[in-house]
Amino acid sequence: MELAIDFGGTNIKMAAFEKGKKEALWTESIPSYSDRGMEQALVRVQEHILQRTQEKPDIMGIALPGIVDSERKRLLTVNKKFKNAEGFDFQEWCSRTFGCPLVMENDANAALLGETAYGCAVGKKNAVMMILGTGIGTAAVIDGRLLRGSHYRAGIMGGHSVIQIKGRKCNCGAYGCLEAYAGAAEFTDSVKKEPGFAESTLSTEGELTMKSIFAAAEKGDAFAKEQVERLIGYYEAGVLNLVYAYDPECVILSGGIAKGSAALAGRLEKFINGQPWMTGVSVSVLVAENPDFSVTLGLRKRMEDYQG
Ligand SMILES: [Zn+2]
Repeated sequence: MELAIDFGGTNIKMAAFEKGKKEALWTESIPSYSDRGMEQALVRVQEHILQRTQEKPDIMGIALPGIVDSERKRLLTVNKKFKNAEGFDFQEWCSRTFGCPLVMENDANAALLGETAYGCAVGKKNAVMMILGTGIGTAAVIDGRLLRGSHYRAGIMGGHSVIQIKGRKCNCGAYGCLEAYAGAAEFTDSVKKEPGFAESTLSTEGELTMKSIFAAAEKGDAFAKEQVERLIGYYEAGVLNLVYAYDPECVILSGGIAKGSAALAGRLEKFINGQPWMTGVSVSVLVAENPDFSVTLGLRKRMEDYQG
């Protein structure tokens, strides 16, 4: 059995696979409480796995947000979420708890591996990933190889590409990052401060979410529509930065906001291909079939490769 664990900012998703089979034996999602640190998350994951199965896994795969040294299996740097996980010895935990080897990956890298190996972009050798979730995660594959770079940062910093000089302060501490405008928490906060909010149907919502903003726009709320357009503008800037940096044949959207977002994919595709530097070329924008599990699918790919 192969066990994949995706430590997301909001939820931890687990999936068990049988070697050689794409469909998961079981999947589970639990809240991550990532602000409470790594240990509590590991304890709860262990409990949930033991409730599910007594079988010793052959291998485990872990994905985390942040800079992951996939060779030494360490989280080098993380932005607030699971703060005390930096430098934590995950292999030691895995050996002690489950007695099996471990593979580790940055979550966006894993999602891209998953989608190009088994998902919506099978066979694509040049692809970029954009995860639209709590934050914005990115990754790139060029000529069939996942980019890693000198410091494990290649491809994955797209959420912190600057879209506004001296702009809004980002949760990472820098200014004007894409995530400071288009991250779920940042965007919903900004909507409340926009003129016209008080008159919008959104002001009567208990808790404002990306989902409720999209739903109100769909129902014809003019203010909500404007906000969705503003958000798409940020996505357009971010996705074009990725396309210009990595020259992919396709962009893959995943993450909670990408769910059922064919219309968004169409908009981004049209935007990219309409740019002056894109004359004569065509980049497709694809949506992950099951955005909640792109990451665990990629961990499965890493685990299969490790086992040979
Ligand atoms: Zn940032």
